[in-house]
Amino acid sequence: MTLRVGVIGTGMIGQDHIRRLTKVLSGVTVTGVSDIDATRAASVAPAGAQVFATAQDLIGSDSVDGVVICSWGPSHEDQLLACIAAGKPVFCEKPLVTSQAAALKVMAAEVAFGRRLVQVGFMRRFDADYRRLKAVIDAGTLGAPLMYKSVHRNASVPEGLYTSEMPLNDTLVHDADISRWLLGEEVAGVEVRVPRRSSRGGDLRDPVVVLLTMRSGAIVDVEISVNVAYGYDIRGEVSCETGIAALPNRPATVITDQFGIRQAIPEDWRERFIEAYDQEFREWIAAAGQGTATGPSTWDGYAATLVADAALRAVETGGSEPVSMCEKPSIYFS
Ligand code: NAP
Repeated sequence: MTLRVGVIGTGMIGQDHIRRLTKVLSGVTVTGVSDIDATRAASVAPAGAQVFATAQDLIGSDSVDGVVICSWGPSHEDQLLACIAAGKPVFCEKPLVTSQAAALKVMAAEVAFGRRLVQVGFMRRFDADYRRLKAVIDAGTLGAPLMYKSVHRNASVPEGLYTSEMPLNDTLVHDADISRWLLGEEVAGVEVRVPRRSSRGGDLRDPVVVLLTMRSGAIVDVEISVNVAYGYDIRGEVSCETGIAALPNRPATVITDQFGIRQAIPEDWRERFIEAYDQEFREWIAAAGQGTATGPSTWDGYAATLVADAALRAVETGGSEPVSMCEKPSIYFS
């Protein structure tokens, strides 16, 4: 069976996902697209796909079995609620939503529906290196994990569009999610430290250091730098009782020339996580074909939203902000 998919939001990542859904993956066809900017949607619509005037029209269409949301974060809530009301499996790019209240609303709708329909775009969980790192932690041979260091560096961000809140409410969600997943526990508290500001970012608060205290007492430190110029650099290292385990340096061709001996650094997230994005969609297509979802859930999106909210509070108070979660509904245990 071929899954007929509608893509909402045809910007940077929407176009990249349309490429993988049409050119890389099998068992799927893009039958619809929609964007606030209808001209952009029409210009990237694959052959045979209908251009819908609104996201709601796309979600309600009989020619769409599953929905991929790639619009900007504040529009996710309404789009997710419409997908759940229509009983359609949905892949939603991170962030799930942009407030705790919205996350609870989406969760309540999915729980009332009775089974999972939502997969959130936390693609690091599908990356082979992160999966190997988790396998080492879970095997327990290094003892309990005590500390995790997560480094998240972007070469640059769009000037004017990226605000001082975004490292905390847009970028940090990836590190919050991967920390919860690797360590297998929830975040209990969040602190933020703001070092000397990079002159490359104008008024932007960049970099920031976020400390997550996990429920076990393990501590995660996250460096978010969004203007490092040299490339997209993602690192992770866990310190356990009797050893450390780290993500490897990505294998790349070694170039030797008059500038020295060097390896290329990924330009951005599309390059670094290309295989992880493919894999997250393979798994989404398989589950959506069965009318459900697996992988990162609404619960995970909710947890990351709470961490982002706590980080925004912590930057104001300068203290440690607690994260308190509602009871986990049974559909999210698996
Ligand atoms: P982008 O280039 O700005 O694209 C977003 C697109 O959605 C734009 O075309 C925008 O139109 C459109 N849009 C906004 N509201 C809409 C609505 N209500 N209905 C339909 N279309 C709407 O942004 P992007 O970088 O692709 O990011 C999109 C989402 O993906 C964000 O949530 C972002 O955080 C996430 N993302 C995830 C990753 C990852 O690694 N998983 C990487 C990058 C981005 P206008 O331009 O006219 O507003």
